[in-house]
Amino acid sequence: MNSRRPFVGGNWKMNGRMAGVGPLAGAVAAGVTNGGAVDVAVFPAFPHLAAVGAVIAGSSVKLGAQDLYPESDGAFTGEVSVGMLADLGVRVVLVGHSERRHVIGESETLINRKVCAGLAADLEVMLCVGETEQQRNDGRTDAVNTTQLEEGLAGVHPDQLDRVTIAYEPVWAIGTGLTASPTDAQAAHAHIRKVLARLFSPTAAEAMRILYGGSVKPENAAELFASDDIDGGLIGGASLDAQAFNAIVDHAGS
Ligand code: PEP
Repeated sequence: MNSRRPFVGGNWKMNGRMAGVGPLAGAVAAGVTNGGAVDVAVFPAFPHLAAVGAVIAGSSVKLGAQDLYPESDGAFTGEVSVGMLADLGVRVVLVGHSERRHVIGESETLINRKVCAGLAADLEVMLCVGETEQQRNDGRTDAVNTTQLEEGLAGVHPDQLDRVTIAYEPVWAIGTGLTASPTDAQAAHAHIRKVLARLFSPTAAEAMRILYGGSVKPENAAELFASDDIDGGLIGGASLDAQAFNAIVDHAGS
């Protein structure tokens, strides 16, 4: 048992249309009945942020964004700045999601700039890390997570760490229906906490939340969340179903 408050995020990715995201957000907000025992955030696509923000206003569900660009304004066609996100009431932002690393091709340098820009703008940042299947098969899981933490968190001040959450998301488990076993997930989380202790301090590492992501469903959430170093989850597919997502939130709070 630890004193970290569980956190569950719903990453809606590039899904939904305006007609559907309001009802989904409303059902999530209405279903968060755990007495505030769990931090909950939803991460809609950029065009849906304002509508979802209006629906969850007044609830305990935080509005999250899936990405940001680390410049404040200017000639960056297609990008969205932290100031624009803050205007919409965004409080937490995902950085370094595996789809942005491996599909869009983001570098560690850009990911680090995004982490620093989000924190400088007083947002909470959820930094996603995790190994590919090949890297796992090569025995490099810990090494990959170490590098992504070292590079992603470079320049972060210890005072900012209460606004940093790590999401460990093995790439081979995202959207595939495959889930890391609780033992393997716990081992990766324990390693991540050890790295955070070295980069910052044991006290800081003990206080930081490390979420698991990768095909979490109501059926496997309780077992995963029971592990010492797993402090909740980042949920993709199952977060598009409010009933499933709320059941996962309930598992995190129990
Ligand atoms: C994710 O996109 O962060 C994720 C974990 O997706 P899924 O739950 O669908 O594997």
